[in-house]
Amino acid sequence: MKRREFLKRILTIAGISLIGGKGNVYGESPSDLSQRAVKSTGNIANRKNWLKYEALKDKQKPKEPYAVLVDLTKCIGCRRCEWACNEWNKNPNKPIKEFEESKDKKPSVFDKIRRTSAGAFTVVNRFYENGRPVYVKKQCMHCTEPACQAACFVDAFKKTPHGAVLYNPSLCVGCRYCMIACPFDIPAYEYYDPITPQITKCTMCFDRITESQIPACVEICSADALRFGPRNEMLKLAYETINKNPERYIPHVYGEHEAGGTNWLYISGVSFEKLGFPKLDKNPIPSYSKNFLFTVKVLEIIAAAPLVWGAYYMISKNRKKKESQDVQSNEKQ
Ligand code: SF4
Ligand code: SF4
Repeated sequence: MKRREFLKRILTIAGISLIGGKGNVYGESPSDLSQRAVKSTGNIANRKNWLKYEALKDKQKPKEPYAVLVDLTKCIGCRRCEWACNEWNKNPNKPIKEFEESKDKKPSVFDKIRRTSAGAFTVVNRFYENGRPVYVKKQCMHCTEPACQAACFVDAFKKTPHGAVLYNPSLCVGCRYCMIACPFDIPAYEYYDPITPQITKCTMCFDRITESQIPACVEICSADALRFGPRNEMLKLAYETINKNPERYIPHVYGEHEAGGTNWLYISGVSFEKLGFPKLDKNPIPSYSKNFLFTVKVLEIIAAAPLVWGAYYMISKNRKKKESQDVQSNEKQ
């Protein structure tokens, strides 16, 4: 077994025991999650997007970060966005018809509120308001100041100038601090992998948006519920839409300010709290968690100094080597 693999296993076990294996806010235990988790395909999408970012670095910087505007009054719950996301990111998939038909099946996929999982970077949930369904697409919000990035002590997350928050599985040690830190409950864990589990999450289709394409979910949405463009334009569009139809919308663009702002923005006819969105103030999460995370890191280091320092030293030392190997193998593919 390679030294890096060995350290990952040790740190993963340490991370699980520190966090306590408590499952998630949906009341699912780790064994539920293990049963439900669709096996992803080795984090192909996250790795590929990180490598693309590394290759582009300063070569491509948009004037304004991008954003997606979600109009919840238009979403019809067809789940085509889920299908397109799986397809583009090479996650396990089913025929698109099965996604579209799932709404009317009994039991319906909408009977339970779902969260993202290792093999599904986006999910659509159904809520009811006055007896009418409201469908809510959920994925990484691509926060302006990401809590996942602040929590990660091996720097496996990166906020890009394009707006996307990327994740590098090659650096991840599986500690799951990012899962604790994220206010939107997004980073998903490979529960089915007991040896070297990692995190997966939406990449905002960085590999597409840097090639002048729009995210796969936006492209497939025939209900016009998803729009993509520079964040300032999406905000303008959001307010224009609300002001044109004040009876249809509540006067709130979710993500404009929440947690310091996000690069996914939502407009709705129903209060966001009723639709499962966390109530957050304007302060970025890292501004609250800075001291806590610092304390966690210090305690961890004191408790497991030889292991953590040894691991961190070796990971840092091997990082460049590993990344250049990744670049080479990517070029061969
Ligand atoms: S966002 Fe668009 S593609 Fe996704 S479920 Fe809603 S209508 Fe369908
Ligand atoms: S939503 Fe969660 S995972 Fe996504 S950028 Fe924000 S903190 Fe990170």
